[in-house]
Amino acid sequence: MNLRPRIVALLGVLAILSTACTHVHVWVLADDSLDGRQNGTAGSQLAQNYIVSYISAHAEALDGTTTPSSYLAPITAGTNVVAQIPGTDLADEIVLVGAHYDHIGDCDGISAADSICNGATDNAAGVGILLEIARALNESPTPPRRTVMFAFWDREEDGLIGSAQWVANNPAIVADIVTYVNYDIQGANLLPSLRDFTIGVGAETGGDYLRGMVELAGAAGPLDLAQLSAVFGQGRSDYQNFLNAGVPTVFFTDSTGPCYHTVGDDVAALDADKLGHQRDIGLGLVAGLANQNQSASLVADAPLATYADAQALRGAIDSAPVDLGRFTPAQQSTLLTIQANIGAIVDAGPGAFDQAAISTLLGAGLQLTQILSSGPCESFQE
Ligand SMILES: [Zn+2]
Repeated sequence: MNLRPRIVALLGVLAILSTACTHVHVWVLADDSLDGRQNGTAGSQLAQNYIVSYISAHAEALDGTTTPSSYLAPITAGTNVVAQIPGTDLADEIVLVGAHYDHIGDCDGISAADSICNGATDNAAGVGILLEIARALNESPTPPRRTVMFAFWDREEDGLIGSAQWVANNPAIVADIVTYVNYDIQGANLLPSLRDFTIGVGAETGGDYLRGMVELAGAAGPLDLAQLSAVFGQGRSDYQNFLNAGVPTVFFTDSTGPCYHTVGDDVAALDADKLGHQRDIGLGLVAGLANQNQSASLVADAPLATYADAQALRGAIDSAPVDLGRFTPAQQSTLLTIQANIGAIVDAGPGAFDQAAISTLLGAGLQLTQILSSGPCESFQE
């Protein structure tokens, strides 16, 4: 007898009972019984069932029903899950919140021990944030003015395929989306010194309005929310498909640390306190985007990188030297060079910010991504 579906159903009930805890969703979705949520597998099916069972208590399917199958939007070799909380006086404008729920399955078939990549921070954590934003909005005494949609993407790990096909298949809906809010890798720490650090990417695509809304939401909590221009997301999550379709977007991420795409991205790697703060930021932002008179408009001609990017990167790097000893001598040398270069850009002031500075920042972003995702997987929570 296969107990797995029953166990997942039971865990689903537990999650509904402990609704304030976003990390409970991660416990369920990153459990070994889901086999790493590879698209087209029984584990993926269990993840879909769990998401539908929770979201259907707080949001309807796009056909207005709460029939479980109505939440499913099939794609090639996979299935997205989509729900909505209808708006009131601005119902024909949509705030879309998205996170991929798929992961990479059995990622180390040669290992005799645990070979399942559970993807706790990537991206069970993002899914958990969506589920809790939906619950909180639904329980609010006043419904949102704009329609808030929730999309749980499949096949992100295969090249952003779930969101790409949904965008292609739903041009009328996409045309009504005023902002897309993306979650990919949450509740994760790049270094011990960066436990309070998290990143919002690309809000400049919605102009000063969206950047300001993100800043406001971040300032309400204890995390240091650094905003970086869209290019620093390196096109590596579903937000890119919405940018390509002309939709203003912000992408919340903790970037790719040493547990990225390893068996170590397990519940033990999840920083549940951080995840709770990230959920609160998201809830504040989405409620604001759904209810304010103003909405974001696409800014398509923003510079690739700005002086503000240099300031944000310097803030993170200058807090991290205490962790330098974790890296190889060659990596330490590179990190010190990056620190000096970015420091010089900031010290030169915004008037001196030029194309060379942009190139330096883009190169630094790529090098930092590579170095910070190297080394042994640790959660950095001690
Ligand atoms: Zn991811």
